[in-house]
Amino acid sequence: MNVVKCLKESDMGDWKRPKVLEGTTTKVQTECGNLFLTKCYDGERLIEISAVIGRNGTCSRCLLDSFCKVVSCLLQSPEARYKIVKKLDKQFIGSNCGQPFFTKTDGKQEKFLGCVDYIAQSIKEEIDR
Ligand SMILES: [Zn+2]
Repeated sequence: MNVVKCLKESDMGDWKRPKVLEGTTTKVQTECGNLFLTKCYDGERLIEISAVIGRNGTCSRCLLDSFCKVVSCLLQSPEARYKIVKKLDKQFIGSNCGQPFFTKTDGKQEKFLGCVDYIAQSIKEEIDR
């Protein structure tokens, strides 16, 4: 399996989550409901993300939570961190849930093809830091 080949236990580094991480939460109105995206930083580095959408106990909320946990795990791995950018480009940016929406980012109106597209775009640019 690819996952096993590219991510061994030793690739995960020794990053330990501190009790407190500083971050920001952005509320975005999407066609799927309000999306709350939290980005947390270890100093300057984006190190953990979480996102909430929809009602408690729904599959979409659970799937989005799982997606963010996996991405966070990759962000914390020195081996995987920079590889995520390619995956985000090829598999998540442009992910279309059939509910495109417009929102302002950095003061200008932008179109996103869905919630995952929005999350992927908003974290991709921060991974290189
Ligand atoms: Zn959506």
